[in-house]
Amino acid sequence: MLQVKNLTKIYKQKNGADTHALDGVTLQFPEKGMVFLLGKSGSGKSTLLNVCGGLDSPTDGEIIVKGRSSKEFSQGDFDSYRNTFVGFIFQEYNILNEFSVEDNIALALELQGKPKDRAAIDALLKEVDLQGFAKRKPNTLSGGQKQRIAIARALVKSPEIIMADEPTGALDSNTGKQVFDTLKKLSEKKLVIVVSHDRDFAEQYGDRIIELKDGKVLSDVSKTQLQQKAISENVSSVGDVLCIKRGNELSDSDFEKIKTFLKRSENDVIIANNDDDVKNFKKVSRINAEGEKEVFADTDSSKQSARQYTKEESRFIRSRLPVKHAIKIGLSSLKTKPFRLVITSLLCTVAFILFGLLSTLSFYDSEATFRETLQDTAPEVMTVKKVYSAKETWYFNGEEEDSFDVTYDANFSENDIDELRKEFGNDVFGGVSTWGTQFAVRSSVADYWVNNIFSFAYLPEGNSFREKINGSYPKTENEIVISSYTADVMYNCKVYSDEGKELELNSPTDIIGKKISLGGTAYTVVGILDSGAIPEKYDSLKDSQNGSGIMSFNFSSYLQDGLHTMAFVSSDRLSTIAEQNQPYVRDEDEYHTIASALVQNDGSVTIPEWSNAVYSSASKIPSEAPFTAIISGKTSPAEAEAVIPRELFCSFASEAVNQLINDKSENGKEVPQKLYDLSNTLWEIQAGGVYSHDGDKESFTEFSEEEIDAKLKKVVSELEKYNISLKIAFRLYSSYDGMVLGDTRELSIVGVVDVPRSDYVGDRIYLADSDVSKLWEEQKASTAHYWTLETDYVADANGLYGCAYLPYDASEAHNDTYWNMYKNEEFDENSTRLQLSGSLVDNLRMIDDMVKDLSQIFLYVGLVLAVFAALLLSNFISISISQKKREIGILRAVGARSLDVFKIFYSESFFIGFICVILSSICCYIGCGILNVYLAENIGASLLVFGPVSLAVVILIAFVTTVVATFLPVYNAAKKKPVDSIRSL
Ligand code: ADP
Ligand code: MG
Repeated sequence: MLQVKNLTKIYKQKNGADTHALDGVTLQFPEKGMVFLLGKSGSGKSTLLNVCGGLDSPTDGEIIVKGRSSKEFSQGDFDSYRNTFVGFIFQEYNILNEFSVEDNIALALELQGKPKDRAAIDALLKEVDLQGFAKRKPNTLSGGQKQRIAIARALVKSPEIIMADEPTGALDSNTGKQVFDTLKKLSEKKLVIVVSHDRDFAEQYGDRIIELKDGKVLSDVSKTQLQQKAISENVSSVGDVLCIKRGNELSDSDFEKIKTFLKRSENDVIIANNDDDVKNFKKVSRINAEGEKEVFADTDSSKQSARQYTKEESRFIRSRLPVKHAIKIGLSSLKTKPFRLVITSLLCTVAFILFGLLSTLSFYDSEATFRETLQDTAPEVMTVKKVYSAKETWYFNGEEEDSFDVTYDANFSENDIDELRKEFGNDVFGGVSTWGTQFAVRSSVADYWVNNIFSFAYLPEGNSFREKINGSYPKTENEIVISSYTADVMYNCKVYSDEGKELELNSPTDIIGKKISLGGTAYTVVGILDSGAIPEKYDSLKDSQNGSGIMSFNFSSYLQDGLHTMAFVSSDRLSTIAEQNQPYVRDEDEYHTIASALVQNDGSVTIPEWSNAVYSSASKIPSEAPFTAIISGKTSPAEAEAVIPRELFCSFASEAVNQLINDKSENGKEVPQKLYDLSNTLWEIQAGGVYSHDGDKESFTEFSEEEIDAKLKKVVSELEKYNISLKIAFRLYSSYDGMVLGDTRELSIVGVVDVPRSDYVGDRIYLADSDVSKLWEEQKASTAHYWTLETDYVADANGLYGCAYLPYDASEAHNDTYWNMYKNEEFDENSTRLQLSGSLVDNLRMIDDMVKDLSQIFLYVGLVLAVFAALLLSNFISISISQKKREIGILRAVGARSLDVFKIFYSESFFIGFICVILSSICCYIGCGILNVYLAENIGASLLVFGPVSLAVVILIAFVTTVVATFLPVYNAAKKKPVDSIRSL
């Protein structure tokens, strides 16, 4: 059944020399009997056995199994051949420690796809004298017992060939004999091929002995029986042994024969007549009861005819490692590296969590959220702003480096509001939002009561919000309508009158007709506008103990989105308020804001600390700003001239005058009264008036513009008398890194301007256009980084209102309209667009952005982590593989295929993946819950659902990661030839 032809096996050595482990071996093995492969260590015995057993493939030549040539075998066929026909026994009695005796034996059966056969196993255990050992674990067995288990395992699948590589090498001689006895018994029915270097055993047990040397067959002998040959009546010979019959009288001729035999012998001759000695001698010389002697003679290969086999007989069974065993072996090493396991699992889990959250985020529906939130919150009005687009461009060394689109707030004009009325109905109104205008209350007893007005508005005739007013609409500039909420605040917190007296209110409506002070202006409350009910969830804020940061913040935002913190005034008053609350609009000249300049006065005067950093700017002086020409006739600076703010002028001049006073008094000179007067006047100009005392009463008289003008002119002429130069020195600084650019420059001061507070942009000096451009060019030339701002938007001279308030009625139509406005990013031909504003919308935008950003972050971080996790997992599996070399080797020897090896490690990595999926799903679920609470606090809606699809995403990612991470290391281990797996045991 087994034949090898011309087998050659060459091992390529690293140093280049090849080892011919087998060198043209041709053999025909018998169907049954015990064949010994004998030879010195290194002669090629194991190699031959391995190749015969399909554990290794020959370099050249073929093995023929039941008529099938190995030349047509795939690696899988070798495994199947072994699985089907060969039982292997090794020197190191390789049995699996995780499995009981019984399971070890059953494994061979199960690899053939046969069920575990208890009865057969028990019978086998009996055969190897190990009854009752079925449930024992291998580590409780002795070496000989383990080897007999290995034999039982080899036998259980009734292989036709048993191959044993020095099966007794690790056993004492007695146990070894038992093993050989067992094998001998088996050889009556099977072919048993045994590798040994023990000639005595070979001769004792072997039916055939094939001796190898340097990979070649040195001799091939088979045991035959020599018959006794009668030499005379009582004397006969068998081989070299002379047998003399017992008890007979020997004749002379018998003695002659014995003499001849003795003469011929070259060695000492022993004649024994002790029974024991004779018995022992017979045994050693292998002479049996019939007097026949066993001897070895050259194997006559002509006698061995190759049998023909049917297809059925030569069919291979493919191995199939049961999954439960794969899992058992796979998981057995998990606990041996707990630290790595935890780290690997954690990283995998985090990566999967990110993907889980990513998938939930991808289900976030911005539009649905917007609509629901709007519907739920149902604000009375929607706040809309007008914004314009501009392009900010950064330059580096004159080259454009980066540019991005920015938006700034613009104002609505009355016209704009009218246009909006056409679209959104009569209830549209304009207003101004402020940072908060406080009114005085005795105490702010709880976060629920907000004593601030955040916006002022004017409701024209016909606006239906007017109908919600209890009282009348303001007719004069000093009348006001407050919201019902504000009236509640005033009632609950005890408001003060404009004169600072606590008002006695018996109900919130009592405030009507009372005078209060708001942002420094006295108003008479003429009405209360019903601003609607406040959701109950905020009631807890009425208790001062309950003030929670987030809740209070959200409440304040909620108030500002509606009418609750809005006050209504006459259109004239609104204009005034609007003037004072202009949104920050960059005027065009300022796009060339060039540098911070250190302003100094004339060298003889010290620099006032506070004015160190001054922004130089354009020559255009605000038209309404009161202007005093120092050089008469001047209205704007010419080249090398400057106009400076009045405060700055006073401060410089005071410094100069004080210096003069100090100089004089230090030199012991008399200080003229005029200098003190001058100093005083400068102080008064700066204060804008004069304080006078009448007894305890102090009063302040404000100067008129003309008075200030006159005083300034007088100061200038006085200063000239004392030779104080009216010059300003400054240095140009880089706006990018603050480095000084060039020398100190000097400009003559030709005018003083009183810049309104609303236009206040630091202490600005005004230069001629030409000077500004010169400085700008200089700045560009000497500063690596600078930026410009461009826009097509031209500010509307009639722009007044910072906000427009549009009605909201919670209808689908309104939801559509506002959704479209919300998502619109297009600008009109004036480079402006309407933009929904208010905290609700800000929150929605923030969440949209957050979802977008988080998705990106989760995606990229998740990918990076997944790669890391895969690498860690890969490494983890590699370590498992190296720890399981033994198991792989044993399984391969028994007949397992590469696929079975994959099964083992995939069950390990899938187990880890499974745990990670569970952990990450739980975390995702909790994470979504937390995010939802956070979102609900901001917009009142739960948005993220960790549902089946997200779970599927996590599982998919886990699957891909695990498959990829496990494949490479396992592929390398699985594609190894079985002999390599076994050798590394
Ligand atoms: P034996 O079992 O008779 O002691 P082997 O069959 O194991 O001998 O080895 C035969 C020869 O092949 C020896 O010289 C040995 O060094 C060499 N050999 C065996 N396996 C390898 C291998 N994997 N790589 C290189 N040389 C090997
Ligand atoms: Mg060997």
